Amino acid sequence: MTEYDVRLDGVSKFFGDVTAVEDVSFEVEQGKFLTLLGPSGCGKTTTLRMIAGFETPSEGDVYLRDQRINDLQPFERDTSMVFQSYALFPHMTVGENIAFGLQMQGIPGERTAADGGSVATQSSGLSGAFKRLVSRHGSEEIDTRVQRVLELVELPEMADRQISELSGGQQQRIALARALVTEPTVLLLDEPLGALDLKLRKNMQVELKNLQEELGITFVYVTHDQEEALTMSDEIAVMNEGRLEQLGTATEIYEEPASEFVADFIGETNLVHGTYAEDDDGASITDGSLTFRVKPHDEASGDIAFAIRPEKIRLGDDARGLDNEFSAEVIDEIYKGNLGKFVVKLENGRQLTVDLQLTDQGDYLSIGRDIRI
Ligand code: ATP
Repeated sequence: MTEYDVRLDGVSKFFGDVTAVEDVSFEVEQGKFLTLLGPSGCGKTTTLRMIAGFETPSEGDVYLRDQRINDLQPFERDTSMVFQSYALFPHMTVGENIAFGLQMQGIPGERTAADGGSVATQSSGLSGAFKRLVSRHGSEEIDTRVQRVLELVELPEMADRQISELSGGQQQRIALARALVTEPTVLLLDEPLGALDLKLRKNMQVELKNLQEELGITFVYVTHDQEEALTMSDEIAVMNEGRLEQLGTATEIYEEPASEFVADFIGETNLVHGTYAEDDDGASITDGSLTFRVKPHDEASGDIAFAIRPEKIRLGDDARGLDNEFSAEVIDEIYKGNLGKFVVKLENGRQLTVDLQLTDQGDYLSIGRDIRI
């Protein structure tokens, strides 16, 4: 039997007149990496915050394993959160910051960086809180646990450094270490790589994914970056205007988008509108004077949209003899390196973007040229 760490059942969240999340249901299997993906304002963060306990659902239920957790405080849940802003305490050392992860878990009612308290308010009374933490856990155990997570994020020598002495990437790792020190069942990550430059971001994507696999912790990860989602996730939940549009693996979402929105949001695509019909040989979609042969699809009928990925189109000799061979004119060249991007126009006036691996065929793809597609 499949075991789930997180389950949302018909969850909605209203802020006054604003519907931030609408009737969202999904499950995250134990040890899996699920990404909530969608454009700005689609409800990703609100969904994550309801799992963390920083927001209460207006409708529906949130479960952790088999327990309904709607009414539990964040510190009563076996979850931990990493924020885009990191929410580290600038005047404390790395080690103290990480140890404070244990504090956040352990003492009810204290407002911390992690539930949105400003850094200024967190600073008051911190040393007192830290002393209480040390007296409760014993400093040796804390040291051991801090050291263990520092090694995990590959910054073993950093315990005594001040936060202000760290680079952005190092701060990101410390924020991660602080969330991991409590050994949560589920780690919640809200655009954790958003503040990093592209190269570091790419490296960290791979590292985070490796770490997740190594630890076997369930990750729920928020991003608006579709490439990041495709790279890292076991499953992706695509959200739009508060609703869940599709839940599936990267391949399912890319190859079988459930809606026009998903097809358009995930990767580049040519969206073509036409009329679908089935016949003895299979099915077709007619777009003006052109008819495309397609595989029959259970849910298709009448006027539909279909997506043609730019990299699936073949041109010139590569196109001959394939299904759906048409003539077209090259009308634009967006760039031409070893990966070329062109716009072609079909006989019916439909324009398609085409991505090509260019070897020696690039030369004949000049603007105005008639080609087979
Ligand atoms: P982003 O990628 O920009 O962070 P998001 O997908 O995470 O966006 P949310 O932050 O969940 O989106 O917001 C969803 C909607 O709910 C937005 O319209 C937002 O303005 C609204 N919203 C979120 N929090 C509140 C709040 N506390 N009060 C009122 N409206 C809110």
